[in-house]
Amino acid sequence: MRDLKSRVAYLQGLSAGMNIESDSKEGRILNGIIEVLDEFAQSLKEMEAAQDQLEDYLESIDEDLFHLEEGIYNEAEDSGEDEDYLEVDCPRCGEVVCFDSDILEDDDTVEVTCPNCDEVVFINDDTYQAADEPEHIRGRLPQEEDDI
Ligand SMILES: [Zn+2]
Repeated sequence: MRDLKSRVAYLQGLSAGMNIESDSKEGRILNGIIEVLDEFAQSLKEMEAAQDQLEDYLESIDEDLFHLEEGIYNEAEDSGEDEDYLEVDCPRCGEVVCFDSDILEDDDTVEVTCPNCDEVVFINDDTYQAADEPEHIRGRLPQEEDDI
């Protein structure tokens, strides 16, 4: 692609050396063809340069996107570590009920009910004794099992 320009230049030199009258029909056609070829070669060269720029730009966007994705996934993982779920078995129907351990810190009284039979399986006040001791299924601290 790059030697297109030089090949056109070579043709220009050849035609100049042929002493063709530039006013003659042949001369006008030949010069016209070479001029068009020269413009083609120039356009191609410019397009190539533009495409190189575009590729560089795309690469930098791709890199930015990669870093952005990395940040998002790390954040998601971090918040995932903070999330803690508790799991209790419903005393009435045996359904396993999962809930967010955040409600333990909630100042309002929150009742967790079984989605299957509406039995209250957990209340977040200190006096509530769950029929089934909630167990951590995903938390930083493993639940001790010797009190079960
Ligand atoms: Zn139930």
